[in-house]
Order: sequence, then structure tokens, then C-alpha cells
Amino acid sequence: MDNVYLALDDAALAAEVDRLQADVDALAAKGLSLDMARGKPSREQVDLSRSMLDALDSGSCLEDQGQDAANYGVPDGLPSARALMASLMGVPASQVVVAGSSSLNLMFDCVAHGFVRGVRGAKPQCAQGPLRFLCPAPGYDRHFAVTEHFGFENVPVPMTPEGPDMDVVEGLVADPSVKGIWCVPKYQNPCGITYSDETVRRMAALRPAAPDFRVYWDNAYAVHNLYDEGDELLNIFDVLAGEGRDALVYEFASTSKVTFPGSGIAAVAASPADIADLKGSFAVERVCPDKMSQLMHVRSFPDVDAVRAHMARLAEVLRPRFELVERRLSEGLGETGCATWTTPRGGYFVSFEGPEGSASRIVELCRRTGVTLTGAGATWPGDDPRDSNIRIAPSYPTLEELDAALEVFCACARLVSAQLAAEARGLR
Ligand code: PMP
Repeated sequence: MDNVYLALDDAALAAEVDRLQADVDALAAKGLSLDMARGKPSREQVDLSRSMLDALDSGSCLEDQGQDAANYGVPDGLPSARALMASLMGVPASQVVVAGSSSLNLMFDCVAHGFVRGVRGAKPQCAQGPLRFLCPAPGYDRHFAVTEHFGFENVPVPMTPEGPDMDVVEGLVADPSVKGIWCVPKYQNPCGITYSDETVRRMAALRPAAPDFRVYWDNAYAVHNLYDEGDELLNIFDVLAGEGRDALVYEFASTSKVTFPGSGIAAVAASPADIADLKGSFAVERVCPDKMSQLMHVRSFPDVDAVRAHMARLAEVLRPRFELVERRLSEGLGETGCATWTTPRGGYFVSFEGPEGSASRIVELCRRTGVTLTGAGATWPGDDPRDSNIRIAPSYPTLEELDAALEVFCACARLVSAQLAAEARGLR
């Protein structure tokens, strides 16, 4: 559908801008203070994990399969925790390290390993000259921040409905300064799409020029379905095994959005040779991980089916929020032809595309009207070249708050779209 504001004559467009401005002013007068910025679970969701806190008390056995959780040791994580995270990721437990509470932290550790120590005996990247990292965009801002922190040039790669544009990726990995790619293969942050089988196969078939190139396969939303029928992601390690490759992918996962964000358990998986290589650096940076949290998790979730049952309960809280976003955006913007957005079947985000040049203005207008959004451009490494993408995070507010926030969002998006059309004609 075409942008309806472009079809209005000058007088009608000017009147429409005034009318939409009055709508926004009326909403601003309500003095709202709402937050749709970060993908935090709601209190209601987090409360569903409280029973995990009863899994341990002062009388509990603090051993797991003969391993002591109450002292130093067991550097790769408790056996049951490795088995749980391995079945979540679809890899053998021997190829998994469970450590800490943050997968982002493990990603940082892996980048640091390549940078300071070198991947599998390669020259440390810090001594190699200019470094590049591929960043499918829109994507996750904290990924981009990690490689930016180490001085990599973040190179945007367009996202398609099937995943990163693999023609572009295949071309770029011919450059030996390209050392990796950030991927969220299931319910991608922020688009919510799941990589197609074809994308996974092409990713696994990459022949990068740099031997120390790795795919950072951040499977943060592996079990985060909104509906009983979830998206299916091809297991990249199975594809790699089929090709007889022993290295290419570091996979990450955590229970941050399963149990308690910031206090879950996190894991990294890689080929046997790669995980041995990573452990060399992990052994220097920590004596062992926090195993009490691991014990609490495995006592509450003895297997992946227990996790899935829990996720179905969380989905009941989350699903109405996503459906409200879809309904509100359709009602508020569907007829304007000014915007498109994704309708994910899992994960935590919706990706919104407004007219070129609109995103930073919409975000700022929402802020002044009482609604905090993720900063415009955050979904891009560097600046969003079209200034059109906004990440919507519907999980944290209550349904009532979300409804009010979406009303503001739609009103602001309409006004900015009409203003841009008027400005393009020199009307303002
Ligand atoms: N990866 C992605 C794609 C995420 O969206 C998030 C959280 N928003 C994280 C990683 C962070 O996970 P953790 O808490 O395990 O560090």
C-alpha cells in the first residue's frame, strides 16, 4: 500500500499534520511514563520461576553426579547442567562449557580469546592489523558493542526474511580481515525471524579466507516459542558434521529469558578442537563457574522437556503482548501505508520500519510524549543508513501500559510520516 500522505494535496496534507499534531499533544498532556525499550521479561513472567528458589536449602545434597557443587573444581560446569544445555543446543555435552550467568559474557570471552591469544594457534588478532566483523542488521546492539570495543570495524550485512543475505556474507568472508559474524538464528533480535534451512546450510558451507573466522551462533531464543508450533531451526552442528568440518561455529545459549535474567546459567558449545582451545583461555580467567546456580537450575529442570513446559507457561504471558502489538500497529498504521513490521512467532522483539528519515524523530517524539523506546539506530552497527528501523520490546510493560504506549507510538509515527511528506514538498 502507498503512503497515503503523499496522495493528499498541499492543503489537505497541512491540515492533516495539524490534526495529527493535536492528537500527539493530547497524549502528551496525559503525562505518561512508559517503557518499551529493553527486552526484559515482565514481573509476571519472572514470578513463574520463583519455585526454582526452593530447589536448594541448607539440607540439600550439593552434589551432582558425584561432583561437588559446594567447592572449587568442575571448571566446565556440573554434568547435569552441561547435559541440559547440550540438549537445548542439540550438541554432545562433551562439547559444552556451562559458565557464569551471561551468554553475552561468554561471547565477549570468545572474542577476547581470538584477540589476545589467537584462535587455535593463529596469530592473536590484536597483532594482525585491521579487523572486521560481520553484523547482520537490524541486529542486536550489544553484539555490535562487543566487537566495536575490541576495535573491529563492524560491517553491516542486510537481513532478509530468511536470515542474513548470504550472497553478501559469502562475498565478504573472502577478505582475511573478516574474523566472524554475529548471528541470532532463531527468533532473531529484533526481526523475530528464524533462519531458513538454506541459510543455515550456506552458513555451514562458508569457506572464509581467515582460518580464525568463527560464526557466533547466539541461540538466545532456542526455546522461546509464542505458540505450540514453534519455528524449526536446522541444527548447524549436524550440517557441519555432514560436511566433515571440525570448526566454524561457536554456539551460545542461556536461561536468562527462561528463569531469571542476570541470574540464569549460560553455555558455549563448539567443535571438540575449538572447545579445547577456548578452555585454554577460560582456565586462566576463572577457577570455576558458579555451580550453585547450575544446581538450582538442574534440580528444577531435569531435562529439556521440563524447560519446554515452563516456556509454554511463559508464552501465555508474552503472547497477548505480541498480539496486542500486531493489532495496535495494524489499526493505527495499517491504513497509512507508511510502515511495515514483523509478526514473530517467538523471541522478544518486533522490528518496525517507518519511512526513510523517520526513526530518530519518532523515537524522540515518543520520548517527549512519555514513551521510552530503544534508541533509533541501535539495531545497526554505526548509524542506520535509512534512519527507518525501530525495535519494539513488548515484554516488560503490563498489557494496559503496553496498550497506552502503542497508542502513543502509532500517533507519533503517523505525525512524523505526515510531517516528512509535507517537508518533502517544502510545506514546512
Ligand atoms: N543474545 C541476544 C540475542 C539477546 O537478545 C540477549 C538479551 N537481550 C542476550 C544475548 C543476553 O543474554 P545473557 O543474559 O545470557 O547475556
